[in-house]
Amino acid sequence: METIYQRMGAEELAAAIAALEAEVAEVTAKGLKLDMARGKPSPEQVAISRPLLDVLSSSADLMDEGVDCSNYGCFEGIPSARRLAGSFLGVPAGQTIVLGSSSLNIMQSVLVHYWEKGVPGYTPWRKLESVKFLCPVPGYDRHFGLTQDLGIENIPVRMTPTGPDMDEVERLVAEDSSIKGMFCVPKYSNPTGITYSDETVRRLATMKCAAPDFRIVWDNAYCVHDLTDHGDKLLNIHDVALEAGNEDRVLEFASTSKITFPGAGVAFFGSSFANMAEVSRTLQVGLISANKLNQLAHARFLPTMDALHAHMAKHAEFLRPRFALVQEKLRDGLGETGCATWTNPNGGYFVSFDSQPGSAKRIVALCLQMGVKLTPAGATWPYGIDPEDTNIRIAPTYPSLEELGAALDILVLATKLVCAQLASEERA
Ligand code: PMP
Repeated sequence: METIYQRMGAEELAAAIAALEAEVAEVTAKGLKLDMARGKPSPEQVAISRPLLDVLSSSADLMDEGVDCSNYGCFEGIPSARRLAGSFLGVPAGQTIVLGSSSLNIMQSVLVHYWEKGVPGYTPWRKLESVKFLCPVPGYDRHFGLTQDLGIENIPVRMTPTGPDMDEVERLVAEDSSIKGMFCVPKYSNPTGITYSDETVRRLATMKCAAPDFRIVWDNAYCVHDLTDHGDKLLNIHDVALEAGNEDRVLEFASTSKITFPGAGVAFFGSSFANMAEVSRTLQVGLISANKLNQLAHARFLPTMDALHAHMAKHAEFLRPRFALVQEKLRDGLGETGCATWTNPNGGYFVSFDSQPGSAKRIVALCLQMGVKLTPAGATWPYGIDPEDTNIRIAPTYPSLEELGAALDILVLATKLVCAQLASEERA
């Protein structure tokens, strides 16, 4: 699509650039310090979970259905927390494990286990000449870091409005047995905010894989993070996989990091019974039992899915105006320019922004010069390399509305200037 700057005559373009440069100089002089890089809830948002801290006290009953939460034991998690995990993940409670605060940490443990020991019955991945993982892009940099750290090759696959490009995924996994897995954030994906369509979920659960030990890291980090009462609906992948005889393929993860306290919640693992039992045996080598008091506090604070949804509705009140402001500022500032496109998600924590090819790094640098920190350009691609240099992740949740508005004005200004400069450079 042609930008307004490409359509301008030489003189008009030069004047537009001069005007934008003057604006940039003015903003730079203000010495602002704004941050739109962090996918964290705001402090006021986190504070809504404070009553969880009052659930337990020195006089509280610390038994959970016969399990003493104040002592060792019950590795897979206390009954009430596993029930919550089961409803949350869409598997029977007996197929879940509830662990410490971080789902990323469990993902790493499971991948390291397959690397060292292999998926049961198959060669350890470390002994293979080549191991590859499919990485939907734009995607979550910490996923890509897990595999990169092990020496697994990350292969990017384009995201579409219905999920990863499934024609490409099916083609790759059918022909290459060194592709051992794939990362998926199926609901309100990080950073596009899109939810996988039923067809995408079905194809992932049933596709023919050359590697019999192919695994999907189904990271459902945002599965209850709707902005409104009419959130996206995600098909239960376990049901489809079970029907197709592929129930061991799906490893689901989630946590309460963006429900209660980031870094101090509980994390969930759910899969087939066989995978649950095997992962449990492996993790037990290095852990006698997780923090069951925290599990108990969480299970009492969020005893049912209804209670959980009511809690999430409170979170949404903080998030809705921020996401609305992103759409308003980008539409008003860039809507007519042709300089960028962006997503408009119904939930999650991010908006994905795509500028002209070859401009994302320049925009992020220019924003930093004007006092706005963004996630580094390229972070949404494996190895930090966005081949077209277009993608920027917008994280609108942490700043106050006022700060967010100021940061978005700066993003708009930087995008316009770089877009105009590119039009001018094209002609030179
Ligand atoms: N997965 C995704 C998609 C995330 O965006 C994040 C960051 N909140 C995590 C996992 C990390 O979650 P945890 O705190 O449970 O490790």
